Amino acid sequence: MSDPEGLTPSEEMTKPILIVGGGPAGLAAAHAVASVGHRSVLVEKAALLGGAPIQSGYAKLVPSGQWAKDAIGGMVRRVEINGLVEKKLNTVVKTFNGQPGNFIAELSDGTHVETGAAILATGFTHFDSVNKPEWGFGTYQDVVTTTQVEQMISSGKGVRCLSDGRKPKRVAILLCVGSRDRQIGREWCSKICCTVSANLAMEIREELPDCHVYIYYMDIRTFGLMETDYYWRSQEEFKVKYIKARIAEVTSDGHKLIVKGEDTLVKRPITIPFDMVVHAIGMDPNVDNMTISAVFGVDLHKQGFIARKDTYGVMGATSRAGVLVAGAAIGPETIDDSIAQANAAALGALAVSNGVSQVAAE
Ligand SMILES: Cc1cc2nc3c(=O)[nH]c(=O)nc-3n(C[C@H](O)[C@H](O)[C@H](O)COP(=O)(O)OP(=O)(O)OC[C@H]3O[C@@H](n4cnc5c(N)ncnc54)[C@H](O)[C@@H]3O)c2cc1C
Ligand code: SF4
Repeated sequence: MSDPEGLTPSEEMTKPILIVGGGPAGLAAAHAVASVGHRSVLVEKAALLGGAPIQSGYAKLVPSGQWAKDAIGGMVRRVEINGLVEKKLNTVVKTFNGQPGNFIAELSDGTHVETGAAILATGFTHFDSVNKPEWGFGTYQDVVTTTQVEQMISSGKGVRCLSDGRKPKRVAILLCVGSRDRQIGREWCSKICCTVSANLAMEIREELPDCHVYIYYMDIRTFGLMETDYYWRSQEEFKVKYIKARIAEVTSDGHKLIVKGEDTLVKRPITIPFDMVVHAIGMDPNVDNMTISAVFGVDLHKQGFIARKDTYGVMGATSRAGVLVAGAAIGPETIDDSIAQANAAALGALAVSNGVSQVAAE
């Protein structure tokens, strides 16, 4: 329990918070915990911090328009220089035992960490387009994913056909690849890919003004304020064309990629040639979630993400008291919402660690 006089920190109060995952959510949680003078141990399985935006080389983020390497890179640097955050790269948590305020985690490097509470910020895994073979990925070199186009732009190389390096004259972006697709067991909407795709379409048009860009969609979900800045702006200012369609397959005639399907507005078959086809890939549950669930003793949502205990109580509480969750570990999430959840989880974790939580430690 915390010291009733508040004069000397109790043992629990000095124990670090364990934060698992060093993406936007984990970085935000570490910064929030440090900002009240508390220590944390940040465990990241990859060799570098930054999560998907850094590891996958995203270009300009929506809705800020800032380059990922600057925006998320800034979050990384802020944590890297903070002496209250102990960074553990290339590391995972092997075991996690104890009670709220008094846990012990064993890390894969053999270290044992005594911690008051844990925050799971372990994020998501990009949908692997080979699981949608009829749409050409893995068969044709010029069928690529949004992350590959992000990398072409962020590396400064520009948008080019991978087969021969030429500038594409016609690009199709197919939405909902690996999302809203019951046939392959992914019923959820990945929330951000409509906006990301409209943004990429505008970036392609900006770099290659002669290139025609088509977006094939079921519905457009550029939610909230992004409707104006991405959906309408991409059409009115950048002349991106939207086709409401059900895609059947992507093939090749030997020269061009052929997108076949049905225009669902006029109910007619459509067959259109392209130089490049882009899969707007969705957000899968982290492939590690079964292991994370077993190690931390937390329940998973029926679709494989980490389950929240409730929606309106302690933000980010899981089925295990003292273990909180934030960001895309919970489900498809934007960066700014991941950061907000991480700040809330940091508060919950500090309350548990200090022995003052009313709910998260129950
Ligand atoms: C193509 C694409 C483009 C996007 N563009 C935008 C955009 O412009 N704007 C926006 O708001 N959102 C965007 N998003 C969504 C964005 O990627 C997420 O909101 C964000 O990455 C979530 O942050 P996170 O920290 O929760 O998870 P992640 O970024 O997934 O980070 C999780 C971290 O945890 C680590 N980790 C995983 N498992 C373990 C483990 N077992 N042990 C230790 N560490 C582990 C990972 O290595 C990673 O570093 C995009 C998504 C996609 C698919
Ligand atoms: S955000 Fe758009 S592209 Fe992504 S799954 Fe939802 S509807 Fe499909």
